[in-house]
Amino acid sequence: MIVQNEKNQSQQSHNLSVKEAAQNLDTNLETGLSSAEVAKRQERFGANELKGKSGKNPIIMFLLQFNQPLLYILLIAGAIKAFLGEWVNAWVIWGVTLINAIIGYVQESKAESAIAALASSVKTDATILRDEQKVKVPSHELVPGDLVLLTSGDKVPADLRLIFARNLQINESALTGESIAVEKDTKSVDSNAPLAERINMAYAGSFVTFGQGKGIVVAIGEATETGRISQLMQQNTTLSTPLTRKFDKFSRTLLYIILGVAAFTFAVGLGYGNTWVTMFEAAVALAVSAIPEGLPAVVTITLAIGVSRMARRHAIVRKLPAVETLGGATVICSDKTGTLTENQMTVQAIYAGGKHYTVTGTGYAPDGEILLDEKPVDLANSPALLQCLINGLLCNDSHIEFKDDRWQVIGDPTEGGLIAVGNKMGLTQADLTTEMPRLDVIPFESEFQYMATLHKKGTEDWGQFNNDKSGIIYVKGSVESLLSRCHKMLDNEGNLIPIDAKIVHREVDAMANQGLRVLAFALKEVSDKQDSLDHKDIAEGLILIGLQGMIDPPRQEAIKAVQACQNAGIQVKMITGDHAVTAKAIASRMGLNKNGEVLAFTGQQIAEMEQQELSSAVENGSVFARVAPEQKLRLVEALQSKGEIVAMTGDGVNDAPALKQADIGIAMGQAGTEVAKEAADMILTDDNFASIEAAVEEGRTVYRNLQKAIAFILPVNGGESMTILISVLLARALPILSLQVLWLNMVNSIAMTVPLAFEPKTERVMQHPPRNPNEPLLNRQLLWRILVISMFNWILIFGVFEWVKGNTGNLALARTMAIQALVAGRLFYLLSISQWGSAIVNKLRGRVTQITSSPAIAIGIVCTIILQIIFSQWSLMNKLFYTAPLSLNQGLVCLLIGLPMILVATFVNRFDPPN
Ligand code: ADP
Ligand code: MG
Repeated sequence: MIVQNEKNQSQQSHNLSVKEAAQNLDTNLETGLSSAEVAKRQERFGANELKGKSGKNPIIMFLLQFNQPLLYILLIAGAIKAFLGEWVNAWVIWGVTLINAIIGYVQESKAESAIAALASSVKTDATILRDEQKVKVPSHELVPGDLVLLTSGDKVPADLRLIFARNLQINESALTGESIAVEKDTKSVDSNAPLAERINMAYAGSFVTFGQGKGIVVAIGEATETGRISQLMQQNTTLSTPLTRKFDKFSRTLLYIILGVAAFTFAVGLGYGNTWVTMFEAAVALAVSAIPEGLPAVVTITLAIGVSRMARRHAIVRKLPAVETLGGATVICSDKTGTLTENQMTVQAIYAGGKHYTVTGTGYAPDGEILLDEKPVDLANSPALLQCLINGLLCNDSHIEFKDDRWQVIGDPTEGGLIAVGNKMGLTQADLTTEMPRLDVIPFESEFQYMATLHKKGTEDWGQFNNDKSGIIYVKGSVESLLSRCHKMLDNEGNLIPIDAKIVHREVDAMANQGLRVLAFALKEVSDKQDSLDHKDIAEGLILIGLQGMIDPPRQEAIKAVQACQNAGIQVKMITGDHAVTAKAIASRMGLNKNGEVLAFTGQQIAEMEQQELSSAVENGSVFARVAPEQKLRLVEALQSKGEIVAMTGDGVNDAPALKQADIGIAMGQAGTEVAKEAADMILTDDNFASIEAAVEEGRTVYRNLQKAIAFILPVNGGESMTILISVLLARALPILSLQVLWLNMVNSIAMTVPLAFEPKTERVMQHPPRNPNEPLLNRQLLWRILVISMFNWILIFGVFEWVKGNTGNLALARTMAIQALVAGRLFYLLSISQWGSAIVNKLRGRVTQITSSPAIAIGIVCTIILQIIFSQWSLMNKLFYTAPLSLNQGLVCLLIGLPMILVATFVNRFDPPN
């Protein structure tokens, strides 16, 4: 009977004994729930999900749009106009700011929800016991009563009453604020113990930092402790990045300058004897013209597009600033196994009992054989080899199965390789486990570099030694971790002989030099009384059985990506837990050399280095092997102290500090633990190094597109403000009114600039070194470009206005034509910096071009033309914006006058190639 009800799933269970808790939830602690029962409970309790209480209040989010210094000016300007009785004017100003705020709001919430959706699209799985089987299911499918297995690195998927804990430590800081992990136990505690002291509970959303455990689900979804306070647990998706913060600072400075200049203009104008109403119009027009109102929206859109492009290329951005930082990365530190390599382990060589065996066959299929001197071996006469294979099969937490037409590993590929080679000789995990059931296990952790299992010895003779002990421990792991614990080794007759460490190392090096990943195997006999296993049980007295070497070929696409990074001036460094010689062999195959050679350091060497030495080691080394996770942090810091922008990958629990410290922390989506994902800025859905390179490409493109957008928007502001300032100083009529400026800066700018955010990457983007992180966004070339185009824009507006005014005396017509000429020039300028422009130029020069521009530019141009026609031809717009309708000829004249922009732009492009 289930005691819980829908309303109160989380009836207290920390005060119950394990048995009572299991009874309460009607769970069998040996077999777990049955599928039928799960289906029933799913229906009854629903999914194990938090219904994301939306983080920000939409109204506040909308109002925040107005919280920009630039918009204050507009609101005040509108108010003053209203005060002067110019209501139409006032409403248009307010209307335009409103539209701007709406656009900003829509963009921002779209971008935010896109990022949040991406981040949450990375699903967490839970390992559970169902129908007597250990299976992995998506966390949202859990029901109360499920038996969940926990191991270090896991995110606890629901509230659990622990029924087993081995050295289990859980970090509950999200719930309790306590940043030190809590030791867990299964004993019942007092019913009114506070959350932090309920040591027999594991709460949803906390992280297992050490050990293993097992627990019954007592509450899911909203009923969990986290669910109750889920407002506090909101994903933190702010849209602010270093760049947007720079923008904010920039616009604040701009504001003060503008206010100063506007005040000056106002005073000068009054001095000339103008009325203060006229001068107010001029001052407002000046202020409005100098401010790039459309820019914030364009920045957000560009970043958001970058995020979605990266997602398409298997890189999920969790924190927006990473988009920018990626583009500036100077060093990528990557894991070897699985990221640079395929993680397709095939055992190729075995050394046991003093003999060298070779293994045929590829992949995880049981096809192939073990050869000794090119002849098939006889297992019955090779006790060391036999033990080596048995160890590989039993001391193993993985399986292989034939699925989707191929043999696949469920679990760790390293262990898959060991299973395959055993299967090739007719040994299977199933048979062996029946014969020698497992009593306990110490799972593999990078920290220890070994794994051990305790078994009951079988009745059948598996080639064991005849003595009275009937328990056996199998250990496998790195040679370094095992050798010192072994006191004897097995020879080919099954006798124990002293170890010659020199020979063992020689054999390891021989395998590693071929790029093979080497594992050592050992055993220890123990009494049949022993039923549990601890690290100290295998501290000494082991018997070395042999070595197995497996190939893990480099990923072809990773080799190309490494090349691409090097061309782009980005160093790639391999950080691995594997043997130095193996790592070095793989690294040189991947082209990871620096100055012609691959310099490798081991974790031990790093540990002994002074700061000075470390500094040069991180700069020159390209392989860091046998690196403990804690040392990754030190490597990142050393690189950063040399001014590098570091991207670092990681997957384990202990990688979290390094991931956080790195400028861009990258977690593996498939092999990574939840702890690592949580700490990362970005997650690779395919664990592939090539995806990091792709993300860098996109990051650089985003930055380039932002620069383009700025180079495009600012010259119009420059031209406008120069026009107004000079006209006032020369005591001439204003060639452009404040409302018209608003139209140009918002409607026109957005229609023309947003398409730039869609510009695809070019080949060139990975052909230059990373940008200097200290270089300002507006670098010298960009400033120069903005100045030249601004000048030309000024000539256009001022010239056309004075010319038409002189000929017709019609102010409205003169202003309209000046604006249309400016926009015409702008169209040509847009073409020139877009990839369309570059493609045309290349064609004209007879060069082959692979540039393919996005249709966005064409759409932008068409929209602009339509909007500008409405602006001058529709009588309502004439009233609102003081424009005058143009004849076809007048329109064509404007277009013609804009044409020379092509020359100016071509001139500027020479100094600052846009693509
Ligand atoms: P990496 O993933 O960078 O190769 P790991 O930390 O996974 O590094 O592995 C470090 C070393 O631990 C390996 O070189 C190997 O000797 C050993 N090892 C790896 N996987 C296992 C495993 N499943 N069981 C026992 N030992 C292992
Ligand atoms: Mg590994």
